Amino acid sequence: MSGYDMDVQYVKGVGEKRAALLKKLGIETLYDAVHYYPRAYLDLSSQTAIADLTPGETVCVKAVVGVPVHGAQIRRGMTIFKTIVTDGEDTLHITIFNSAFTARRLEVGETFLFYGKVAYVNGCFEMTNPLIETEDAAEPFRPVYPLTAGLSTKQLGAIIRNAIPLWEQATTDDLIPGDVRRTYQLCHERFAIQNIHFPNSPNDAGIARRRLMFEELFVLQCGMAQLRHTSRVKTDIRIRGDALPAFLALLPFELTGAQRRAVDDCVRDLSGGVAMNRLVQGDVGSGKTMVAAAALFLAAKSGVQSALMAPTELLAKQHYETLTRLFGDTVRVVLLTGGLTAKEKKQTRAAIAAGDVDVAVGTHALLSEDVAFHRLGLVVTDEQHRFGVRQRGTLSQKGDAPHVLVMSATPIPRTLSLIIFGDLDLSVIDELPGGRQPIRTDVVDSSYHARIWAFLRKHLDAGRQAYVVCPALEEGEGELLSAAELAQQLSDGPFAGYRVGLLHGKMKPREKAAVMTAFAAGEVQLLVATTVVEVGIDVPNAVIMVVENAERFGLSQLHQLRGRVGRGSERSYCILVSDADSDTARQRLSVMKETTDGFKIADADLRLRGPGDFFGARQHGLPQMKIADLMQDMTVLREAQQAAAEIIAQDPGLSQPEHSVLNDAVRRLFARTSAQALN
Ligand code: ADP
Ligand code: MG
Repeated sequence: MSGYDMDVQYVKGVGEKRAALLKKLGIETLYDAVHYYPRAYLDLSSQTAIADLTPGETVCVKAVVGVPVHGAQIRRGMTIFKTIVTDGEDTLHITIFNSAFTARRLEVGETFLFYGKVAYVNGCFEMTNPLIETEDAAEPFRPVYPLTAGLSTKQLGAIIRNAIPLWEQATTDDLIPGDVRRTYQLCHERFAIQNIHFPNSPNDAGIARRRLMFEELFVLQCGMAQLRHTSRVKTDIRIRGDALPAFLALLPFELTGAQRRAVDDCVRDLSGGVAMNRLVQGDVGSGKTMVAAAALFLAAKSGVQSALMAPTELLAKQHYETLTRLFGDTVRVVLLTGGLTAKEKKQTRAAIAAGDVDVAVGTHALLSEDVAFHRLGLVVTDEQHRFGVRQRGTLSQKGDAPHVLVMSATPIPRTLSLIIFGDLDLSVIDELPGGRQPIRTDVVDSSYHARIWAFLRKHLDAGRQAYVVCPALEEGEGELLSAAELAQQLSDGPFAGYRVGLLHGKMKPREKAAVMTAFAAGEVQLLVATTVVEVGIDVPNAVIMVVENAERFGLSQLHQLRGRVGRGSERSYCILVSDADSDTARQRLSVMKETTDGFKIADADLRLRGPGDFFGARQHGLPQMKIADLMQDMTVLREAQQAAAEIIAQDPGLSQPEHSVLNDAVRRLFARTSAQALN
């Protein structure tokens, strides 16, 4: 049994009860235990005088117990102990809950280190449940772990201390090969594990941390590099480019230079030999759909079936409509989404399986097992960041090494896109179609509402359309208007006599589709919506985007929302309404005024919010990093990337004996990730 799956109960001091508590922290195996990293370290080496205390700060105070400890039972099972300590100049009140053992140690006249958070209550400084150590504490740096009730830092520390030697026995090699460690000056894993938990100095902890971060990113990057390597699969599917002029003739406009380059990249990839594996990245409105359409058209004309996947039903429907409008009867396109009746679904599936369909458009439903293709040769996914890395794999397994085209509108910094899409070739559409008017963006507070509604009416009267977007509310946020409430108020008040539509996430797919169709057809003039319109929706006649409570959206989200307008030749407006008065909120919204460049906005978003929020929970399908912060630790990331690329180039299968530990780690990581992505 390896340390990876050895039950944590083998560790001294862990019985069934402890094991259950540890499980709450995600610790089930020996591996989990030693890789449960501290979130901080107590520094007992520098002490603060009581006179210099600031409420709210966590500090270490060296002081003498001044008065005998006084215990009082405040209710059954709850005793509090109080004493007062002094550093000779000032006094500090100490309160301890329930621990008679700790209280008994505090004899009058003895000196201790008190480590904890300072409060200022009734004119006195106070610490509640501080960590109490004798002056000669052996380790000046103590790990502080994220905890669960019933388990103290001290107990967890002891468990991990016992786990480390077991782990060392159970593991043979360092998963980072020796030459990589030397090149990138990384410590050995033994040093790393010991010192991430029990360092002798902040410096040692730093060395350990860097190595463990590198390790995480390195394993991930090796996996991506392998994926990239194995995704260079041979294919017999040849899609010819000779129908391209026929496709171009269908278009009501000329492709932009950037679109044309992306199409040419695809044509080259599709010609056969090695399967295409390409990401088309372009800002909102750059016209990615047409690149996909070109590939789908060429596939159909070469007698090859294709699938187009979108992250939402709305978007799938829109793509379906765009394609049928564009292709007319030259290509057979079907829509397969959850919105269909069981009978319709069955028929559609049968047609796909019989090969009576050229292009199947849908959502994840296309991934479901009972969709069998006749001859799937091309898989296109839109707004890819919403699909996990593995889901991409699942779909391509449906055919016989089909070509894969991925489109993403999320402008993400290049390095990050390499992590997420590291297995793909890249075409960037860095040019917007001509004739677009710049979108004017304003940030206002809610006192402007009357003026905003008048402005909207003027444009609706001129035959244009508009969106009003509200944040989707969690329960208990009663003070904010929901989309439904706002739609009601607007159609009763300022927009009485206008056709107001409502779109929100809790509606049934059919209802959503009906509203969206009505909006696209111009029957609905004003669409009140939650962020379901965020991604991809294209109604060129809509020229105003109003966002209520704009401070509640991420900048990249606002950028996507703004991208819903300015898609035609009319002048367009984006009005961000916010009453937030914090500096960060203002600063963030002002970024939207300053630039329409999605990459700049993404950078600002990352800077102001951090990557967790940027992507939303696990949207990217990447494993959760325990210790590495993808944005903070860019240098380490680049090094890990480079090291991984070198190793995979030299040993693609990681089959050399010295890479076997690494190979196991990569496979474990991706096994976990695919389990997550399927949730
Ligand atoms: P996105 O890249 O955000 O997916 P779309 O593909 O939805 O953008 O295109 C945005 C709009 O621009 C659509 O209305 C589309 O018809 C139009 N469009 C695409 N390419 C061109 C072009 N070359 N010239 C003019 N309009 C174009
Ligand atoms: Mg799109």
